[in-house]
Amino acid sequence: MALAAKPSSGDQGRGAPHLVFIPSAGMGHLLPFSRFIAALASQGNVHISVVTALPTVSQAEAEHFAALFAAFPAIRRIDFNLLPLDDATLAGTDPFVLRWESLRRSAHLLGPLIAGATPRASAVVTDVTLASQVIPIAKKELQLPCHILFISCATMLSFIAYFPTYLDGANADHLAGDVDIPGIGRIPVDYPPNVLRNPDSLFTKQFIANGREIAEIDGILVNTFDALEPEALAALRDGKVVPGFPPVYAVGPLKSTATDKEAAHGGASSPIAWLGEQPARSVVYVAFGNRNAAALDQIREIGAGLEASGCRFLWVVKTTVVDRDDTSELKDVLGDGFLERVQGRGLVTKEWVDQEAVLQHPAVGLYLSHCGWNSVTESAAYGVPMLAWPTLGDQRLIAKVIKSGGFGLWVEHWSWDGGEGSLVRGAEIAEKVKEVMGDEAISARAKEISLEATKAVAEGGSSHRSMQEFLATLS
Ligand code: UDP
Ligand code: UDP
Repeated sequence: MALAAKPSSGDQGRGAPHLVFIPSAGMGHLLPFSRFIAALASQGNVHISVVTALPTVSQAEAEHFAALFAAFPAIRRIDFNLLPLDDATLAGTDPFVLRWESLRRSAHLLGPLIAGATPRASAVVTDVTLASQVIPIAKKELQLPCHILFISCATMLSFIAYFPTYLDGANADHLAGDVDIPGIGRIPVDYPPNVLRNPDSLFTKQFIANGREIAEIDGILVNTFDALEPEALAALRDGKVVPGFPPVYAVGPLKSTATDKEAAHGGASSPIAWLGEQPARSVVYVAFGNRNAAALDQIREIGAGLEASGCRFLWVVKTTVVDRDDTSELKDVLGDGFLERVQGRGLVTKEWVDQEAVLQHPAVGLYLSHCGWNSVTESAAYGVPMLAWPTLGDQRLIAKVIKSGGFGLWVEHWSWDGGEGSLVRGAEIAEKVKEVMGDEAISARAKEISLEATKAVAEGGSSHRSMQEFLATLS
């Protein structure tokens, strides 16, 4: 697992603040937490504890937690033993949403755990999925400041923040139409998570409960930067979305603090070694996140599209939501002869790859992506143009950010919701891949965004200043 960071020296001062982090489940939630924690730990002068619920849902999360604690021995682990979730009504729920529910239903156990931490905790930082449970515990029971580290974009944050006002105005308990967010504009009904149209889904209930509590928070750290989402950040900060909204600290793009990239790359047979043999900007990187499984027929069409594009490619294939469940063989998934036909110009893997290192590699010229926010911030940070193929959750709202940022193409009718006629054919995939690979304007804009990202996190940049402002609240 790629988290080789400078070991913490344990040189925190006596009066240093003590931050207790309560992350949620799923790599998309855990990775930004560990990047933020690693950045804090590397700079010293802060005590850090991480509430850890084991066993994790996925193998990737287990390895990531292990790597974090190994790289930073001074970080304390607070074990969180979850109560059994014995509820037949939740059968068939997404395993990660189910874990969020377990964390939420066990949250009352957190008070004594945090109260017992030494030195005394100074503040709690949690995930939005746990907000409505953790905020009252931190603020009322423990009298501690409570912050959210928000793992999606500021545009999504504005939607979450405004959603309760929308529901009250529409006298609704679910998403029933387009949403006009003050300061942001009209969000079409099919951009936010589709599941919000179902009032009975567990996700919808959690989402609304968390959204209603979010205004009580002391501050929200967002993995974005001012130049990437200027309008959304301004609307949130100016109180246009919700009057009196808490401070929003744009501290992204969050990156790994890896100092030993070679160790993280996994040796000569790794995708990074393969990329090293490819010409500059010649490879299409194809990946759909840590928990987006595609149907077999769509996977085969993606394969046909990559083959027909004539481009080199590195493709991470996922056939199950949870990595531990994946027992399939690549050659069966991809169909007879595919791997032989693309040998030399295409590398396909089911393994976890160090995506940050991939996107940083000069051989990569395009990222065909599901538009998870971490992936988008990584692509933006390293100036890789994107072909957006959002599939679920917040991904269509995120694709809107890519489109308005000008560093990628979004083919809006592509989906893989399994509905009639939703299969995207290989020929169309090939055509769009070639189109973006040859688009100079998108490529130039991606480079500009990358420069802006570098400026934002450099000393004196907007994200650097936001981080200092946040740290100042702790003293
Ligand atoms: N990731 C990775 N290797 C993989 C798959 C995913 O490093 O093989 C990382 C990726 O770089 C990103 C995170 O996992 O940082 C996935 O988060 P994102 O928000 O992009 O999407 P999600 O998986 O939550 O849908
Ligand atoms: N989300 C939220 N409140 C919740 C649950 C989710 O605001 O109670 C947000 C979450 O941060 C993400 C989006 O809703 O931005 C979609 O959630 P999903 O499960 O699709 O995200 P993932 O786990 O793939 O990051």
